[in-house]
Amino acid sequence: MVLVLFPVMYHLGGLHLAALAAVASVSGEALDCYVLSRFARRSTIGKKLPFALGLTTLTAGLQAGANAFAIALMFTLGDGDTRVLAGAACFAGILDAALVFAAHRGASIIRIIVYFGCASTITLQEWLRNDSSDPSLVYEALSIGFLLYVCWLIVRHVFKTQERSSNSRMLTLENARELAHTNAALEQSRQTTRRLALVAEHASDSVIVTDQNGVITWVNRAFTRITGYSYAEAVGRNITFLNGPQTDTASAERLNKARDEMKPFRIEIINHHRDGHPIWVDVNMSPLFDEQGNLVNVVSIERDIGEAKEREQALAEARRVAEDSVRARRNFLATMSHEIRTPMTGVIGTTELLLETDLDKQQETLVRTISSSGDSLLSIINEILDFSRLEEGRLEVNADPFSPGKCFQTAIDLVQPLADAKGLRLKIVLPSSLPQQVIGDERRMSQVLLNLLGNAIKFTEVGSVELEVSVRLEDGACDLLLLVRDTGVGIETSKLDRIFESFVQADSKIAGRFGGTGLGLAISRLLVRAMGGEISVASAPGTGTVFFVSLSLPVGELDAEIAPATANISELPQETVDLSGVCILVAEDNRTNTMLLERMLAGTGASLLFTENGREALDLFTEHAPDIVLMDLHMPILDGLAATGLMRLAENNCGGIPVPIIALTANAFPEDRDLCIASGMDGIITKPFRKRDLLNSITSALAVERDPFQSHRDSLTA
Ligand code: ADP
Repeated sequence: MVLVLFPVMYHLGGLHLAALAAVASVSGEALDCYVLSRFARRSTIGKKLPFALGLTTLTAGLQAGANAFAIALMFTLGDGDTRVLAGAACFAGILDAALVFAAHRGASIIRIIVYFGCASTITLQEWLRNDSSDPSLVYEALSIGFLLYVCWLIVRHVFKTQERSSNSRMLTLENARELAHTNAALEQSRQTTRRLALVAEHASDSVIVTDQNGVITWVNRAFTRITGYSYAEAVGRNITFLNGPQTDTASAERLNKARDEMKPFRIEIINHHRDGHPIWVDVNMSPLFDEQGNLVNVVSIERDIGEAKEREQALAEARRVAEDSVRARRNFLATMSHEIRTPMTGVIGTTELLLETDLDKQQETLVRTISSSGDSLLSIINEILDFSRLEEGRLEVNADPFSPGKCFQTAIDLVQPLADAKGLRLKIVLPSSLPQQVIGDERRMSQVLLNLLGNAIKFTEVGSVELEVSVRLEDGACDLLLLVRDTGVGIETSKLDRIFESFVQADSKIAGRFGGTGLGLAISRLLVRAMGGEISVASAPGTGTVFFVSLSLPVGELDAEIAPATANISELPQETVDLSGVCILVAEDNRTNTMLLERMLAGTGASLLFTENGREALDLFTEHAPDIVLMDLHMPILDGLAATGLMRLAENNCGGIPVPIIALTANAFPEDRDLCIASGMDGIITKPFRKRDLLNSITSALAVERDPFQSHRDSLTA
């Protein structure tokens, strides 16, 4: 435009005006180019885009304005002759602006407005200056309109073309971006897959991929290591080929069912190695589904648990051996106890009967020695049995009301003769606040006390033995502290911790002098603990020993019935009783015991019926209707328990009153007692027994049954 306008201007208005128009036009162009190039050089415009668009629209407006100024100047100088040139220049400007419409709408619009404004002003001026009826003006106006229409057509075509190409460029860009995304995702999933494949490949557990039918499609290296089958040998075969003769079919079926139902499943099962040996594996099977929920494959991770299984089996075996040995020990103890008690009945009973005969002094001393040796042997057996039961945790602690004061006093009374024999003072100190009744196990309590008092007397040569009781009552509970104090040999401090262990004696020389098994304190501690208490000791060699027993027992209701005192504490010696008119049936196959029973009952006036087996006992029972039956348990033909059952049946059938049946047994465990009671017996006399035990048991059983005797006998004989 400058190249065309400058010579025209120079021709019309001289150098100065031409230069002015050129400077204006070039400056506008230069400013616009400068600003556009500044922005074009930047790689990103980002947030500055609105500013850039605004500024370049402004510079485009200035550029068009400068050109319009040059065109207007040329038109004015030309005085009407240059109107076509001016119109063409405006048209060129509009066309130029329209061509870049798609690239910068703002700049194009402002330039079109400026050029159109310039053209309109020129046309208006021309109309005002000339006669409005001049038809050439109308033609000019029509040609301007026509040009503008052409201009609009071109602009529209350019715009559409540019828009199409821009859309297609955008589409290409969009596709390229999507492709890049897809490629990135693909790469990531490829890497993940590679990593997972590496993990699966190098996992220490065997990984087996199958289809839904169980056909193997992939296995890892661990599979080969564990099963011995290579990849090529495994792939294509059904996974069930790993099962073998030792595989549990039920487990295998459950696994197959889970696979068929496409459910995750876990099970321990035996697979078989290539060389045939069984392998314990922990199978963790999971079906894998795609996004549409279709099964892709089934992955089984199999862990070799052979070692764990071996350990488990070894443990089970060890437990079985331990249980066997406990059972064997229990059986051994029961048998030993039974076998020793049976002859002991003879020894103790015979010495007792012997002592009732006329003996000279020396004979009596000898017989008493046999008797006390028998007692010691018996207490050792009892201790061993007690200890083994306590150790197995099979000892029940009763919770019955009893008088603690009476219990402590009875224990003192029982050991009094021992203290007297050694010339020791025996004292008991009971607090006035001691409750009249507590709930606990009186028999176990006295067992502990008798052991502690017995030891105190045993290990004391001169001085005293004292039982001191202190009590604290709180919230219905009675906290008892029992002190058993002596002035005896004492115990070395280093041994104090160990004396509660089984078979431990503080000083073997001293213990040898006094005798004992080393079980008493172990039993006492187990008993006290079973009762919820604690036992401890303080001692110094030469000055004496104190044992402390602390226990907390609930205080009993005063009107609650106190359990009858236990036999070994409260029974008073009963040397003879009147049993005249009483018929006693004795079923016992051991001759010595029969002889003893006959002798022990000889002076009572009772009539005795003897038999050596249960069958005959039953016949005698129905035939003679005895008042009481003494029944041994182990007898030929029919044992005591069975015979008792049949006797009770006979009684039931004829509606008679039950006759007391008392077991005579060398089985000393509480289970044996329970068995006797369950079979229908009323009581039990444990062998070896003393005459007074026998008479006590008979009289107390008869005391309950005495009245109905006659009617019972009548009903039986009828
Ligand atoms: P035993 O008395 O049958 O040997 P214990 O278990 O009752 O067994 O006692 C273990 C040991 O504790 C005894 O051998 C003895 O050395 C020591 N002992 C227990 N009580 C006393 C005591 N009052 N004075 C001294 N030593 C005692």
